[in-house]
Amino acid sequence: MRYPNKKRAAIVGAGPVGCLAAEVLASRGFRVDLYDKRVALEQPASGRSINLSLNPRGMGVLDRFGTGAAVREVSVPMVARAFHPRHHEVSIQPYGKPEWMTYSITRDALNQTLLTLVQRRPEVRLHCGYVCLHADLHQSTLTMRSLDGRVKTVTADLIIGTDGVASAVRAALVRVPRTNFAKIVFPGGYRELTLRGAAGDFPFCGNAIHIWPRGDFFMVALPNRDRTLRGTLVLPDDRARELRTAAALDAFLTTYFPDILPYLAEMAEELLQRPVGEIVTVRCEVLHYAGSVLLLGDAAHSVVPFMGQGVNLGLEDCAVLAGLLDEHGTDLEQAFAAVTEQRLPEGLACADLSEWNYKELTSGRPVAAASAEESLVSQVNFSGLSYRRVAERAIPHWCPRVVASAHC
Ligand SMILES: Cc1cc2nc3c(=O)[nH]c(=O)nc-3n(C[C@H](O)[C@H](O)[C@H](O)COP(=O)(O)OP(=O)(O)OC[C@H]3O[C@@H](n4cnc5c(N)ncnc54)[C@H](O)[C@@H]3O)c2cc1C
Repeated sequence: MRYPNKKRAAIVGAGPVGCLAAEVLASRGFRVDLYDKRVALEQPASGRSINLSLNPRGMGVLDRFGTGAAVREVSVPMVARAFHPRHHEVSIQPYGKPEWMTYSITRDALNQTLLTLVQRRPEVRLHCGYVCLHADLHQSTLTMRSLDGRVKTVTADLIIGTDGVASAVRAALVRVPRTNFAKIVFPGGYRELTLRGAAGDFPFCGNAIHIWPRGDFFMVALPNRDRTLRGTLVLPDDRARELRTAAALDAFLTTYFPDILPYLAEMAEELLQRPVGEIVTVRCEVLHYAGSVLLLGDAAHSVVPFMGQGVNLGLEDCAVLAGLLDEHGTDLEQAFAAVTEQRLPEGLACADLSEWNYKELTSGRPVAAASAEESLVSQVNFSGLSYRRVAERAIPHWCPRVVASAHC
């Protein structure tokens, strides 16, 4: 389906989801202006370099848009989870079937690959260094501030909000009366660290996601192409408060993570200077306004990273949008309403499943299953079922809820 009248779309946020949304719209005949607050798009989106695990949901979408091979080239395949219990040997749990695989990729590498995809399109114009301050739903305009401080108004036939967890476009949508919205901040945060092996090799096996379950906290580490592991230490606030000095952090790592000490690439002082990342769930009842505004990706539904689903969910949003645009022709209002109808329960289910999986990461035991093959993570990643269906099967009495989660 093409839109011959050259409708203008303004996309706010050129992260992975914004880039794929640009591809979806440009390939259907829209003229697309893609804005991002980053001055240079090769800069990390959040000033941090995190690794993402892409599962068959996300990879399937990338394959469909012809960029799966390019993404595989800059990622590392993973076939198992490696649990590092505190007082026992590492236990490797294969995902289950030989063809079950996920891919570790830095968010920046994924973003760059998708930017390369859209930069080939003459219909897409990139605008770096533009911060969206405000979206006006009724006028279909955006108020944008450029680097030199100048503020301009951008008018578009449709506005796509892919501006992540603190979305300015969503802020306008949730002001519509009687729109339920919830932002739930996890009472803790995360710090990143690097594990480097001797002689340029992986410190631990390089084709697994590594998990250190520690009761009320955990660390995960994903492999990089340079044969390092990128670790993410997730701590509740009360634990983090005890780790204000390098000596305290050294003692903590020696007690809980003795196996990583020989491989730690950063000193405790350096780790303490790293910003602590916030972990947030966003549930928003409405993902569109008429046929002119639509949220996708983290702007629509941000989930805690305890099951590695956020970008997979967002890439799926784009594939669903493509299908619904084709189905509903030029009736954008119908198409966007159908996106809300299909993706809202998926986002809510994914949020609940991700929160549930905190139990597995902290305990090291599969949630809702006797075996690794049937674990929640395997069901979510490999069953081919919707998030909603997995939640209905795995979480007792599950139903989609925006404002309150009864499950955690
Ligand atoms: C520690 C951690 C680990 C994670 N692990 C995984 C994982 O293993 N697997 C997985 O699938 N997901 C994971 N995620 C989630 C994943 O990072 C997000 O779901 C994904 O980045 C969302 O993509 P997005 O394009 O919607 O938003 P973002 O990547 O956040 O991109 C938003 C873009 O919008 C721009 N922007 C923001 N505000 C404005 C504004 N006002 N004006 C203009 N531009 C703006 C930003 O500069 C950015 O480029 C993890 C997240 C964290 C924090």
